[in-house]
Amino acid sequence: MDEVATSLKPPDDALRGGFRAPVPVIQLRGNSGNPGVVALVGAGPGDPELLTLKALRLIERADAVVHDRLVAPEILALAPPRVLRIDVGKARNRHTLPQDEINALLVRLARAGNRVVRLKGGDPYIFGRGGEEAEVLAAHGIPFEVVPGISAANGIAACASIPLTHRDHAQTCIFVTGHLKDSRMELDWPALARARQTLVVYMGLLGLPHLCRELVAHGLPGSTAAAVVERGTTPRQRVIVGTVETLPAIVRAATLEPPTLIIVGDVVNLRDALTCRSAGVQAACMAE
Ligand code: SAH
Repeated sequence: MDEVATSLKPPDDALRGGFRAPVPVIQLRGNSGNPGVVALVGAGPGDPELLTLKALRLIERADAVVHDRLVAPEILALAPPRVLRIDVGKARNRHTLPQDEINALLVRLARAGNRVVRLKGGDPYIFGRGGEEAEVLAAHGIPFEVVPGISAANGIAACASIPLTHRDHAQTCIFVTGHLKDSRMELDWPALARARQTLVVYMGLLGLPHLCRELVAHGLPGSTAAAVVERGTTPRQRVIVGTVETLPAIVRAATLEPPTLIIVGDVVNLRDALTCRSAGVQAACMAE
């Protein structure tokens, strides 16, 4: 029998405004008696077509989709109208729901017998706190699975014509978080400043000047190419290119908005040669 918690807002409200705590979700539709399950699903970097088939199947069958701010509206629209959408997304300095409440919400929804899709930008296990959510689910004995997604690093680099590990230029590719702690990034600078590698920095826009300064101070030539990609893989993608020395000033003048991804390394120089070609191929494919 269908049962819907009366205290829930209708799905459309949840989609538009996002839920504010407390979230008294108990039981959704048609699943009473069945054990609940959670899928931690990667939604990819922005372009809805980069969603996996597995993610799509789970979204279509979900009772509830608990999603982040970075998940594209086109992806949320793939959920049938009966599916409850809960926006727990975070904008910098504007937390909608703290992480421990998100964890508790997933547990509550699953315990009530729902098929929950926890939809996260990119890949759930890359800088997305998916690991923490999985730990909580495991600790509570909630069955869960993890569906990988295309992460910002590889999705955005490919769409911005930057081959992260072109073998003539990089033998290593390192993903780091540039999140600032007390105005500093606590990173292994000597390791990051090595030659013949590509560095991809998530959440690094605010710390870009600090990042570039530390890399040069630890031996990376200031002339090393570097790029910031804003809203990668979407129609509003912007790619700002410079060097480790020049990029902070260029970015300041460009007034970028999150989400942005920083890529540092000689592979950024290949962009010019590869951009025309990929644009041409794309145009040809689209025309068919
Ligand atoms: N789990 C996600 C990352 C979450 S952290 C993944 O695998 O991609 C969020 C950070 O990812 C953002 O601050 C930004 O640095 C990066 N990011 C995500 N989507 C992006 C996009 N479309 N364009 C640029 N950067 C993006």
